[in-house]
Amino acid sequence: MKSEFAVIESLKKKIPRRMQGEIGIGDDAGVLSAGAQRALPLLLTTDTLVEGVDFIPGKVRPELIGRKALAINLSDIAAMGAEPLAFVVTLGLPRAWSEKWILRFYDGVLALARRYKISCAGGDITRARQFFASVALMGRARKNEIILRNGARPGDWMGVTGSLGGSILGRHLRFAPRIREARYLSRFIRPHAMIDISDGLLQDMGHILKASRVGAAVEAAAIPISRAAIRLAGGRRGRALIHALTDGEDFELLFTVSAAQKKKLEISWKRRFPKLRLSWIGRIRPGQRMEWRRNAKRMPAPRLSKTGFTHF
Ligand SMILES: [Mg+2]
Repeated sequence: MKSEFAVIESLKKKIPRRMQGEIGIGDDAGVLSAGAQRALPLLLTTDTLVEGVDFIPGKVRPELIGRKALAINLSDIAAMGAEPLAFVVTLGLPRAWSEKWILRFYDGVLALARRYKISCAGGDITRARQFFASVALMGRARKNEIILRNGARPGDWMGVTGSLGGSILGRHLRFAPRIREARYLSRFIRPHAMIDISDGLLQDMGHILKASRVGAAVEAAAIPISRAAIRLAGGRRGRALIHALTDGEDFELLFTVSAAQKKKLEISWKRRFPKLRLSWIGRIRPGQRMEWRRNAKRMPAPRLSKTGFTHF
């Protein structure tokens, strides 16, 4: 099988453009703005967890798998600048799967749904060889609040929330989707482009650069490296940086803003979100290349064994 991204490219060509909603497929969520929805579009996204691919059932509590199944979708709706509304859950169940496990899975789903005041609007159950849980989540935003991947402009600063890398040590199950932060950004700052970091900073930054047809100068010393990444790297700075750049499932926000927007944000962010770090990791440049700096001096690109998490 080709890579996930190659398959998406083929599907983009196969599905007629007029069928793909307002912005076309390939962003963090689809946007539907026909008819009555013109001023207040609906957004739709879906994501799936599969036993053996995304988790090993005996090793993770069902509540945490349920929580994550919804949280990864919330993160995509956040990345668009939208507010989540309602979701449906499709479960694929092997014959021997217990009802108790499923109810505990739903405890995790519903606890998170309550926190964000969203509705569980139904779902479907089917027989499957491996357990899977697929959530589809609908959101809403004013038309001018929706932020796509393709709006980055030369001169923009790249901001990233939180700290990155090493999510495998636990954060990938317990992360807080950045709904409040993204809503603040989309309503009061209006970043030019935004994405949630699910495949690793480098790969997701690549998605913004490619969609916006721009390049970037990245400041290595400014990348926020998580404690988990340092632990995974056994304390070696270089290795920890690679974890921060390429480990998947951080579910932080990466966005680009003008210098004026950055100034405004620097004043307001600390007061609004005192516990969440905000880092400026580089600037958008014309051209298509990614350049690296350390303390403003040019450096070779970090050598990577992998450039991010791909599902296939
Ligand atoms: Mg995403």
